[in-house]
Amino acid sequence: MTGEVSAGEASAGDAAAKKVVIVGAGPAGIAAADALRAAGHAGEILIFGEERHTPYDRPPLSKQILAGTWLPEKAQLRTSEELAAADVTLHLSARVASVDVDAHQVTLESGEQVAYDALILASGVTARQLPFGHHLDGVHVMRTLDDALALQTNLETAQHLAVIGAGFLGAEVAAVARSLGKEVTMIDPLELPMQNVVGDEVGSMIADLHRHHGVNLELGHGVTSIEDNLGRATGVTLDDGRTVSADAILVAVGARPAVDWLQSSSVPLTVPKEPGAGGVRCDSSGRATDDVWAIGDVAAWWDPTQKRYVRVEHRQTANEHARSCARDILGLTPTPTMTVPYFWSDQYDIKLRSFGFPSRHAGFHVVEGALGDRKFVAVYTDESDRIVGIIGAGMFKAMNWWRQQVLDRQVLGEALLEKQGS
Ligand SMILES: Cc1cc2nc3c(=O)[nH]c(=O)nc-3n(C[C@H](O)[C@H](O)[C@H](O)COP(=O)(O)OP(=O)(O)OC[C@H]3O[C@@H](n4cnc5c(N)ncnc54)[C@H](O)[C@@H]3O)c2cc1C
Repeated sequence: MTGEVSAGEASAGDAAAKKVVIVGAGPAGIAAADALRAAGHAGEILIFGEERHTPYDRPPLSKQILAGTWLPEKAQLRTSEELAAADVTLHLSARVASVDVDAHQVTLESGEQVAYDALILASGVTARQLPFGHHLDGVHVMRTLDDALALQTNLETAQHLAVIGAGFLGAEVAAVARSLGKEVTMIDPLELPMQNVVGDEVGSMIADLHRHHGVNLELGHGVTSIEDNLGRATGVTLDDGRTVSADAILVAVGARPAVDWLQSSSVPLTVPKEPGAGGVRCDSSGRATDDVWAIGDVAAWWDPTQKRYVRVEHRQTANEHARSCARDILGLTPTPTMTVPYFWSDQYDIKLRSFGFPSRHAGFHVVEGALGDRKFVAVYTDESDRIVGIIGAGMFKAMNWWRQQVLDRQVLGEALLEKQGS
């Protein structure tokens, strides 16, 4: 049997009749239902999602939807009719409160109990909050469609947006707010935007990009409080005592795995000091424990090549996990896991693309183009000069060639020689 999925592949086995319950109606949950059906699964599939909206994609939230260039419907992943046609039962506004692994059942917040043969945990992550200010009008996070629409509405009247956190999400929202003509201040305790992920050189380029577009950068500063007037946010105070006025504030300080509902269960979680902390601890096929799998942002899968648990908050990983886990549930040959993580980030007119693990680098080399032109491929290497990741913009073909070098765990010198010879 090959790694390819063919419809009906699983139809002969008992596995094909299993009742599969999926918790989370985000991209991972929907992709898992698709993958199960594509692999020939004939049994019941039930999806429980706590949000009220039909399943939608998140990357457009901080880009086209906030900018108002897309209506929310365009980000929809599946309509209810499409899911019904695939014989997938979707329950919206249905939060799962707990799971009993021994009894093979989940309990909804409503008290209803639902039995399963296989359970897929696809509950994603939730936005991290600061210890202050979140109750105030004008303070936002950016995780859900409702979050994006609330900030969009606020920006119709607000003049000055303060973005706390210069990660990819904060940077994308800052870029959209500038395109809407808002005054924007972006604040981060690190010295450069996205520094943890992209390193100093690309971080400097992103800082220049935002300055060029008129963003006021307050880097190297934390926020100590959010100021308000009668319950409405009016600004933030920085750790050096200065106040930045703002009538809209985005808190973009990362996310934490949505596992609160699993705390009373025996589902294993990664321990706080491990990378991917707090995620569901899975083997390299996504299995967490008997008949329970975890996929997408919430899942920390064992990566045999790195010999560690890896939790990735990227859209493509959700799809890859879903395909691999569906095959494992059905007892089919798993697809290869832990391909190269991929993410993109749109800021102004550039689309940054990243493959692999650039954050784990010891060396940095621009191998194509130039950072100053914002058209480049940068290669990130480990201590042995092995390529661990790449980041680039505007050089699609070259990026694809270098992506293969990341997949092959190629040594940079050898890769360069090969490229010169080709
Ligand atoms: C604004 C934004 C922009 C992004 N941009 C990019 C990008 O440009 N490129 C990229 O690669 N990635 C991007 N991402 C990340 C990408 O969207 C995620 O990796 C992807 O959504 C993960 O899918 P998921 O299904 O695992 O989790 P989620 O999308 O978080 O979905 C999980 C769902 O489960 C629900 N849920 C949680 N707990 C329960 C429960 N107990 N019961 C029922 N339902 C529950 C949640 O409400 C949620 O709807 C972005 C994310 C955001 C928020």
